[in-house]
Amino acid sequence: MGVRLVYIQVDSGEQRRYERELPFDELERFFMAMVLSYAPYAELQVKHMEARTRSIKSLPFPYEAYRQGQRYFAGAVYKSIADRKKLFAKAPTGTGKTISTLFPAVKAMGEGHLKRLFYVTARTTTRTAAEEAMVLMGTKGLILRSVTITAKEKICFQDEVRCSSQDCPYADGYYDRINGAILDLFTQETLITRNVLEKYARKHRVCPFEMSLDAAYASDAVIGDYNYVFDPRISLKRLWEEDKRNTAILVDEAHNLVDRAREMFSAELMKAPFLELQRAYKLRSRALSEGAKAVNAAFISLRKSLGEKKSGVLREPPEELLQRLEEFAALAERELAMGSVSSVSGESQEQQLLDAYYAAQGYIRIAGTYDERYVTYMELERNDVRIKLFCRDPSALLRQMGKGYRSYIFFSATLSPLGYYRDMLGADEEDYSVSVPSPFSKEQLEVELLPLSTRYRDREGTRGPIVSLLQRILRGRSGNVLIFFPSYEYMNDVAERFREQEPGANLLVQETGMREEERERFLGAFQAERSPSVVGFAVLGGIFSEGVDLTGDRLTNVVVVGVGLPQVGTERNLIKEYFDGTGKNGFDYAYVYPGMNKVLQAGGRLIRTERDRGLLVLVDDRFLSSGYQQLLPEEWKPLKVLRSREQEARTRWFGLYE
Ligand code: SF4
Repeated sequence: MGVRLVYIQVDSGEQRRYERELPFDELERFFMAMVLSYAPYAELQVKHMEARTRSIKSLPFPYEAYRQGQRYFAGAVYKSIADRKKLFAKAPTGTGKTISTLFPAVKAMGEGHLKRLFYVTARTTTRTAAEEAMVLMGTKGLILRSVTITAKEKICFQDEVRCSSQDCPYADGYYDRINGAILDLFTQETLITRNVLEKYARKHRVCPFEMSLDAAYASDAVIGDYNYVFDPRISLKRLWEEDKRNTAILVDEAHNLVDRAREMFSAELMKAPFLELQRAYKLRSRALSEGAKAVNAAFISLRKSLGEKKSGVLREPPEELLQRLEEFAALAERELAMGSVSSVSGESQEQQLLDAYYAAQGYIRIAGTYDERYVTYMELERNDVRIKLFCRDPSALLRQMGKGYRSYIFFSATLSPLGYYRDMLGADEEDYSVSVPSPFSKEQLEVELLPLSTRYRDREGTRGPIVSLLQRILRGRSGNVLIFFPSYEYMNDVAERFREQEPGANLLVQETGMREEERERFLGAFQAERSPSVVGFAVLGGIFSEGVDLTGDRLTNVVVVGVGLPQVGTERNLIKEYFDGTGKNGFDYAYVYPGMNKVLQAGGRLIRTERDRGLLVLVDDRFLSSGYQQLLPEEWKPLKVLRSREQEARTRWFGLYE
């Protein structure tokens, strides 16, 4: 019997064919051995599917009752999946977002609308919430296989991520052992978290990251970072179109996806690594050294075009640089394929080459998607040059990356204004939106406004009033306080003044780059009935302003200083300019909406459950304007406007608002 093996070079279409004539019985033995080794896995899958469907059909909602708004939200999720639509959902804290999206998605699976769901998030803590929801549904009888993907750098068993078979025993022989490992894993486990994966990966001596990917392709639910769906470099590529058509993507805290998508779809390159490679490879590989030299030369001619300026915008991506990078990438690929280097300096050179190769490939890939939504800019940094293909509007690429999936559920407590997020996350006109009302009562939250100007030039004068505000809260109310500032500098300034005036205060101040234990210590200090009360100083948009759950009396007062505008900078201005050009309000798109999102997130730390009560104080006179008022949630209104003595002296009209 004639057999033929064909390799196809996907990009060029080039084919290599290998043909042989073999006796029929030999082929039959080969084929049967293959099928027989696959049979136990196929049998396991068939049985699992039957058990899965049965368990979903009889699965009750895992809590005693739906909370206010929860049934409505869950219904909207189910309908969007059934109708193959995207849903943009603003669901406030307390709606129970995780279960309100996972439960209907699982039910849709039971009805045959879905084969698989992805639950993607920006942070590890929200991934844990999804795992917990899976466990909870498991206690109610659900049989569903879910896999959590953890980043390679975090889950790697080695001191250094070097994935070649020479460097890593978990990569060496991976494909010989992975089938047995997956079979063992799937026979024993359904909730495949990081710990579970590590246990089985060690047992079978396979790479835990690769194993998580292999397990994900054969699972019902995948929990992981946004990257695995949206990032062109990392996304799971082995999903067939058929699989995608039966998969729903649940995007938690979707407000984060706008900036994350900008990062994923942008690419930047530095000049220095190419100069270093040019020198390092001079003797080892003349061709590669010349390739790096050509890239370096292209950078130099671009730098010259800047003249005396330190930065500049190029309307078109530089063609010359792109061509040189393509040539360099081909040479680097050949060099890397040639294999191992034993000396220590050789290894570090190889790593350098690998890094430059990936950076070049990233740049080339992004250059391929470059259109009017992009801009190229260049900056001089000390002796180096940085060039960036910057994606100002990620909506079209998000739409493209997500093409083929059955449905998307974008949800967040702060998907506000909805029109902006629909626009930025690639909604089509016929896609659905839903705003779930807050399940909490108005009596739980008091909101006050101290209308000071916190604009950069006026900050000096705000230290006194903010300290007085804190003193008033500490003397007049019980419980701990968390106060957020738009920058570290501003925060430290006020903290210093507060420390001078309240030497006995229980003061905690956020620092840059806090380690896990330090963060835990900071949050751990917020205990109910702590005396004296804790006053935590933190930055807006930082680690304590999102995803922090200080329930009950652990946190009863929150102060947010400023409207959260991002720092004025090149990229923000480029975004503004772009959206101005499309007839939208560029300042709102680049500054106001992302800023207000931080304010809403920080304010949202206060009321987390039906039992929580507290005071939220907003400090900024811009909240008096109708534009900003419109961006505040209904449950924060009406604001009670405060008057400070210092302010009263400066602005006579102020009393009108009291
Ligand atoms: S193959 Fe896996 S375990 Fe080995 S270095 Fe790479 S990530 Fe780490």
